[in-house]
Amino acid sequence: METPLINGRTRVVGIFGDPVEHTFSPAMHNAAFAALCLNFAYLPFRVRKEELPAAVAGLRALGLVGVNVTVPHKEAVLPYLDEVTPEAKLIGAVNTVVNRNGRLTGYNTDATGFLRALREAGCEPAGAEAVVLGAGGAARAVCMALGMAGARRIVVFNRTYERAQALSREVQANTETTAVALPWEDLNKRKADVFQAAGVVIQTTSIGMHPEKSACPAVSPAAFRKNQLVVDLIYNPVETRFLQMAAEAGAATQNGLRMLLYQGIAAFELWTGSSPPEEIMLQGLAAMKGA
Ligand code: NDP
Repeated sequence: METPLINGRTRVVGIFGDPVEHTFSPAMHNAAFAALCLNFAYLPFRVRKEELPAAVAGLRALGLVGVNVTVPHKEAVLPYLDEVTPEAKLIGAVNTVVNRNGRLTGYNTDATGFLRALREAGCEPAGAEAVVLGAGGAARAVCMALGMAGARRIVVFNRTYERAQALSREVQANTETTAVALPWEDLNKRKADVFQAAGVVIQTTSIGMHPEKSACPAVSPAAFRKNQLVVDLIYNPVETRFLQMAAEAGAATQNGLRMLLYQGIAAFELWTGSSPPEEIMLQGLAAMKGA
């Protein structure tokens, strides 16, 4: 396998975020470009909040093929795009932009990636009963994806209760799914009626993420059971304390690596029109662990 040299024909993609130092995406995409001998390069771009409009104008001016968009720009980028897919519009966030001859289209491949990862873990979202911890950007993608895929009921816990209420109202208004908001303080009180009743529990907060590896949402181990899938969107560390606790209680678990991989694959396909070698992308991600 030859890594293509950067030359006058190299096509550029990248990621807009702040911070971007810890992103795993360049490793994943550049490994796939090299494996397919595609003359593309994926670069990190640290874009401060106030510089986002200039960065989007630069994307057009420099003819970038597209970018991923991450914290804090996923919602803020929408007004600067020419069009947004109905899914991304409903989620209210874009994580992938494609530049077609100066016309910018926004997609949300986090939602696609999440659903693919969920199905791979054996959980069919249609008809599912889900508990979601968090109501931030990732939770929005998860809840809307579940709603659009026909989940029966979602219970959302969030520290800022108003955000949980707003998210559940939006899910109810735009999908057939029943959505309920509960206060964060109730996490440990709703073992039997909420947690045990759910087929899938999804942890979307940043609690337990590197470097705060010992942190864990205040859920009791008694909340989990066999024949239940527990997902944590965090991928660094590979197993959060939350996932560890769920696994010890007999639940099946999945970390955020699969969602990260599948959102990346969907973005790769949008930019290049080619299907990437998934194993190589996964190896690219694995090489970043602990980086
Ligand atoms: P946001 O900043 O949008 O949301 C953060 C969420 O975490 C909010 O619900 C926030 O609650 C909650 N939270 C943060 N700290 C605490 C705390 N100490 N106690 C209780 N709640 C807390 O971030 P994102 O939604 O974009 O990302 C969240 C996580 O998901 C990150 O770990 C990120 O890496 C991961 N992620 C993984 C992806 C993947 O592909 N695997 C994709 C996207 C995200 P409040 O509303 O009260 O502030």
